[in-house]
Amino acid sequence: MAYRRILLKLSGEAFAGPDKVGINGETVRSIAMEVKKAWDTGVQIGIVIGAGNLVRGATAQGQGIDRTDGDYMGMLGTVMNSMAMQAALTNLGAPAVVQSSITMNQVCEPFVKRKAVRHMEKGRIVLFGGGTGNPFFTTDTAAALKALEIGAEALFKATNVDGVYTADPKKDPSAVKFDSISCAEALEKGLKVMDSTAFSMCRDHRLPIIVFDIRGEDNIKNAALGKKVGTFVGE
Ligand code: UDP
Repeated sequence: MAYRRILLKLSGEAFAGPDKVGINGETVRSIAMEVKKAWDTGVQIGIVIGAGNLVRGATAQGQGIDRTDGDYMGMLGTVMNSMAMQAALTNLGAPAVVQSSITMNQVCEPFVKRKAVRHMEKGRIVLFGGGTGNPFFTTDTAAALKALEIGAEALFKATNVDGVYTADPKKDPSAVKFDSISCAEALEKGLKVMDSTAFSMCRDHRLPIIVFDIRGEDNIKNAALGKKVGTFVGE
């Protein structure tokens, strides 16, 4: 095992499945199966899930909702996604617990770092809902923050592209994928690995980021085993 503890960031959009919005049970189940394969290797796992499938503050703003309220709606969405993943993992036999940065005692545990670490040491997967608990942030930043707080050795960013490219591969067919790249080089080349707040936190605290395709079979497991998956960003 290459890592003792990892923080996995899953984009909310990936939960929507073919419907593009909402929570698709079958899709969540298939992602949970991939998480379980990684968990079976013995690595300790914390997860942060976005809410792009439900609501984003910036989009809500366009619909006449105050930006801050929209952001809180987004944070609530991350709790719903975390609960869906908690159910899917539990159904597969992998114990999982949701903790939220916004207290909602009837729904899930509040975020308590020491308790989260204890859960992971006991083999439970901890889902960190509620983002950072503050508007104007993203779940990428929440993932970087939680990774550092729980002492994760790497941040796995499972997303819709299979790594970091010289340009957007969806727009530029000549774009080339990096196997690995340092933070300094990524900055210099203006590559978008995560949002700037999340990226600078990882860079400042020397937390490696591994960017890979969420849909790839065994990707999470292989990354946890230290095999070459997607792009490694770090020193
Ligand atoms: N959000 C927030 N603070 C946080 C994390 C999330 O305000 O610490 C809100 C924000 O409106 C964001 C939404 O929740 O747009 C969903 O998160 P994100 O866009 O990161 O989801 P993803 O793109 O990963 O699905």
